Amino acid sequence: MKNVKKVLLEEHEMPKQWYNIVADMSGEMLPSLHPGTGQPIGPDDLAPLFPVGLIEQEVSRERYIDIPEEVQDIYKIWRPSPLVRASRFEKFLDAPVKIYFKNESVSPAGSHKPNTAVPQAYYNYKEGVKSMTTETGAGQWGSALAFACELFGIDLKVFMVKVSFEQKPYRQFMMNTWGASVVASPSLLTAAGKQILAEDPDSPGSLGIAISEAIEMAVKDEKTRYSLGSVLNHVLLHQTIIGEEAIRQFEKIDQYPDVVIGCFGGGSNFAGISFPFLRGNLTGGQNTRIVAVEPHSCPKLTRGKFQYDFGDTIGMTPLIPMYTLGHKFIPPKIHAGGLRYHGAGPIISQLLKDGLIEATAIPQNESFAAGIAFARTEGIIPAPETNHAIAQVIREANKAKEEGVEKTIVFNFSGHGLVDMAAYDQYLKGQLSDFSISDQQIKESIESSTVLPAMS
Ligand SMILES: *Cc1c(COP(=O)(O)O)cnc(C)c1O
Repeated sequence: MKNVKKVLLEEHEMPKQWYNIVADMSGEMLPSLHPGTGQPIGPDDLAPLFPVGLIEQEVSRERYIDIPEEVQDIYKIWRPSPLVRASRFEKFLDAPVKIYFKNESVSPAGSHKPNTAVPQAYYNYKEGVKSMTTETGAGQWGSALAFACELFGIDLKVFMVKVSFEQKPYRQFMMNTWGASVVASPSLLTAAGKQILAEDPDSPGSLGIAISEAIEMAVKDEKTRYSLGSVLNHVLLHQTIIGEEAIRQFEKIDQYPDVVIGCFGGGSNFAGISFPFLRGNLTGGQNTRIVAVEPHSCPKLTRGKFQYDFGDTIGMTPLIPMYTLGHKFIPPKIHAGGLRYHGAGPIISQLLKDGLIEATAIPQNESFAAGIAFARTEGIIPAPETNHAIAQVIREANKAKEEGVEKTIVFNFSGHGLVDMAAYDQYLKGQLSDFSISDQQIKESIESSTVLPAMS
C-alpha cells in the first residue's frame, strides 16, 4: 500500500460523525455579543435566522455529532473524496517530501462548500422551512447552496454582488440550473438595497451589502431562513468530514502528516482538513504543524488584531471575537474571491491566539505560479483560493530541501478553477499585480471599525 497514487475509502468506511473541536479546547471561548446590549447572545437571538438544529450545533460542546442518515446519503454522491499522492508535483519540486492532497473538487459544485450546504439545507427542511436566502460573491457558496436546497425542495434566493453577477455569469447559470433565483445586489427587493441604490444607482455592490439584503429578507418573513457558508462554528463542524476521512485514509497507507495546510477565507476548508489532526495534537500526543494560508492582500491572521468585530460590513451580525482587519476593510480585488473576507471564525481565532496553529500570507502572483505548476504536473486546475495552499506546500518543500529533512505534507484541494479561467488568462498574460497593504492602512481600518474597548 505504500506507494499508491490514490487512497480511497469504501462507502461503509465513511465517518458517521462530525468532530467538534470546542470539546478539546482547554481555554474558555469568548462569547459573541449582542451589539445593542453588549450581552452574550443566546439561541433566541439567532432563531429568526437559523433553524434550531443548527443553533444547537453552533453552541454545542459535544465532541462528536452524528451526521444524519439523509445527509450521509447525499454525501455519497461524491464522498468519500480521494486522498491523492501528488507524485508528479513532488518530482517537479525535487525535495525530500511526500505530498498528499484531499481532493474536494470532486463535489457537484466543484469545491468543499457542499459539505456544509447539504446539512444546512437538511436542518432547515426538517423544521419546515420552505425558503432560504444567502449572499454570494463570485458564486461558489451560492452554487453549493442552490444544489443542496434543490435536493430538499427549498426555494433559494441568492443575492449576488452586482459586479460579479455581470462579469462572471457562469456560476449564476449554475445556480439557475439547480433551481435557485439569483438577484444582483444591491436590489430593489429590500430596504437596504433601495437605500444604497438611492445614494448610488450604479453601485457595483459588495459582500457586505449582499449580506444585509439576505438577512433582511430572512428576518422579514417568518418562514424564511438565512444561511452562511463559512466562519460560524456549525459550518466548520460540517467540514470536519474532510479531515476525518483523511485520517482514515492515512491509516490505510500507514502514514501520518508532519504538516497540514489549508487556504483561508473564513476558515471552513482549513478547519475541515485540520481539526481532526489538531485533535491528534491536543489529545493524542501528535506534533503536526497546522498552517492556514491567507492572501498577502487580506492578512487578517498574520497582521490583523484580535478583538470584537462585526461579521459583515454594515454591522448587522453579532459582535464576534476574532482576528480582523476591521469590518470596514475593503480588500484589493484579487482573484481569490473566497479569501477576501475581513475576519476569521472565532474558533480559529482562539486557536491562533493560543499558538496551536500557524498562519502565513502569500502574494497573488506566487499563488498563481504555484497553481500553474500544479496544473502542469498533476493535471487538475486549482481554484485561485486553492493556489494559496499549493504555494505554501512549495515553500515547505523548499525548506525541507534546505534543511535536508524528510516531511509528509497534506493540503486541502478546496476546489477546481474551471469557472475561474479568466484569472488564469490574466496571469498568463502577465497582467496580475501583487497588492500590498501598509501597516498604516491596516491600523486605520481597525481603528475606524472598532466598536468595543480593546481586550486584554
Ligand atoms: C469559498 C472557498 C474558499 C474559502 O473559504 P473558507 O471558508 O475559508 O474555506 C477556499 N477555496 C474554495 C475553492 C472556495 O470556494
